[in-house]
Amino acid sequence: MCTDCGCHPHHPDDTPHTGDPGDGYASRRLLVEAAATAANDETARHNREAFRRQRLTALNLMSSPGAGKTSILERTIRHLAGRRPVYVIEGDQQTRNDAERIERAGATAVQINTGSGCHLEAGMVARAVERLDPLPGGLLFIENVGNLVCPAMFDLGEQAKVVIISVTEGDDKPEKYPYMFRAARLCLINKTDLLPYVDFDPGRCRQLARAVNPHITCIELSARTGEGFDAWLQWLSGLA
Ligand code: MG
Ligand code: ZN
Repeated sequence: MCTDCGCHPHHPDDTPHTGDPGDGYASRRLLVEAAATAANDETARHNREAFRRQRLTALNLMSSPGAGKTSILERTIRHLAGRRPVYVIEGDQQTRNDAERIERAGATAVQINTGSGCHLEAGMVARAVERLDPLPGGLLFIENVGNLVCPAMFDLGEQAKVVIISVTEGDDKPEKYPYMFRAARLCLINKTDLLPYVDFDPGRCRQLARAVNPHITCIELSARTGEGFDAWLQWLSGLA
């Protein structure tokens, strides 16, 4: 439980560990959580409908902090320059640092600061898209707050969720955070330029990702060298 923001990383499949059947507080809390999730899902449905009308392809990018979401976006934006309008919603607890990097790379960005919050919600995305006022046919990247847990449980209205992991992390991440890998359509394995210096086994990571989600696609790339970007850009162009 994220006690700071009161967010509710309980997956619907999970049995609540209330222990005591007379635990009124715990059951009330679950009811409040269910209502919050239903409200978010409703807003996410509105977002999805608006994106369809605007012919906007929206992707929700999720990873732990430091896996390279912003670096991947910077290189992606430079590749897509002049081909299609790109918009980015940057979610971080504090600062405009990442939005400034994205703007320098050539895309329009809106920064959302969640304060103590640890994930983006559909309402925040709806307000950010209003400010972006995107052109039809655009590509919208929603960079979620760095966190492999609760962002997986909040629908933002995106067309697909993308999970990013870097080779400086453990190759067993899919096994440790199965909800995230189950929710994602694509897994990007970043920082492949560092493979000679770490014990990360990309084959094992792919295998563990497929064990929790047989439909997931995995692409290895390096935002630093550009290796693997052809496959990622091809995947992107196949979406819209
Ligand atoms: Mg970032
Ligand atoms: Zn959260």
